Amino acid sequence: MYDIAVIGAGPAGTTLARLLNEKYKILLIDKHNYGQSSPAHDRKCCGGLLAPDAQKLLSQFGLGLPKDILVSPQIFVVRTMDLKSGRERFYQRHYINLNREKLDAWLFSLTADAVSYLPDTLFKSCERKSDYVELELWSRGQSFKEKARVLVGADGARSRVRKVCFPHKNRQKLYFSLQEWFEVQKPAPYFSAVFDPAITDFYAWTIPKEEHLLVGAALERGSAIHAKFSLLKEKLEHYGYRLGRSVRKRGAFVQRPVSGRCLCGGGRHAALVGEAAGWISPSSAEGLSYAFKSALYLARALWQGLEGFHARYKKQCARLRRNILLKNLKSPFMYNYHLRNLILRTGIGHVELAGRGFDEHSK
Ligand SMILES: Cc1cc2nc3c(=O)[nH]c(=O)nc-3n(C[C@H](O)[C@H](O)[C@H](O)COP(=O)(O)OP(=O)(O)OC[C@H]3O[C@@H](n4cnc5c(N)ncnc54)[C@H](O)[C@@H]3O)c2cc1C
Repeated sequence: MYDIAVIGAGPAGTTLARLLNEKYKILLIDKHNYGQSSPAHDRKCCGGLLAPDAQKLLSQFGLGLPKDILVSPQIFVVRTMDLKSGRERFYQRHYINLNREKLDAWLFSLTADAVSYLPDTLFKSCERKSDYVELELWSRGQSFKEKARVLVGADGARSRVRKVCFPHKNRQKLYFSLQEWFEVQKPAPYFSAVFDPAITDFYAWTIPKEEHLLVGAALERGSAIHAKFSLLKEKLEHYGYRLGRSVRKRGAFVQRPVSGRCLCGGGRHAALVGEAAGWISPSSAEGLSYAFKSALYLARALWQGLEGFHARYKKQCARLRRNILLKNLKSPFMYNYHLRNLILRTGIGHVELAGRGFDEHSK
């Protein structure tokens, strides 16, 4: 019998396991294998930008990033483009540009030796007994069971734990994100945030990654996503983005918690952290800081013991909930056409470009 079973060895699951492994006997389960270098397509499809909030959390954890996780260039500017009005502005931001596969592998390595790890293992279902949870797992063609006092779902946007344990709290708004990597000679050193209602009511982006340009978009489900992605690429080329040979195209679901009903931190015997709970920015889809923070909050609740952890976690989650609801209040300034263009027109916060580094992809 384990104290805690954590489903998902992404940033939320590995952070939680690391913060609890000295106090508890932990079982960490993932349908992929973070313990060996598996093909990149097995891993998370992500922009790999570490926002200031996520950097702050790493500093609280006393962690510094190994340099081989970083990718060039480091980014200080966001180009915000409204394709419908043709308006654009540059804003200063401080992201760390990194390789997401390597980030996940590094976070995993920090806890791997201190927990029991089941790779290539799918969580299918569970049954609540009087004082423990029996997990139904599946690996290499075989079903088997494990027991734990507490179950934690850190299994991302389409959380199976959430679906099984909290079927009545499944009112998530899910988008499908597509990302495609193009060979380019010298990608311009900025992150582009692209707004166009003909493509999505959320947003699209470009991120330079070494000798590649990553083009991505969060698209409404079931709405001709491939045609809309092609339209995005066409429009970007019109704006001067030279997209060379495509080397990789991947997709993943992403949550957009547009209201409190999309959020669920869990219950008495099962807790949810990271995107499984809906902890992700509804305005930018930045999720790493929320994965770290929710893992920290749940760890704090569990440090005091398994008994009553749910009420303690719920209390901490109120802060995350408020933060997400505030971001929703800010969203109209990004996602309402008229308000966005009002802001773009005023030029508040805009950085006047003085160098020649951006010429290549300018309109
Ligand atoms: C295209 C895209 C780009 C993004 N870009 C950024 C960005 O640049 N910066 C940023 O901060 N955020 C970004 N995000 C959001 C960010 O990736 C997520 O919010 C973050 O990964 C959430 O971490 P997590 O640990 O909760 O879940 P995940 O990272 O999704 O990890 C979940 C883990 O659970 C495992 N799993 C799932 N189901 C099961 C199961 N049934 N059984 C066993 N294991 C299971 C998966 O294999 C995975 O390892 C992006 C998201 C997308 C889709």
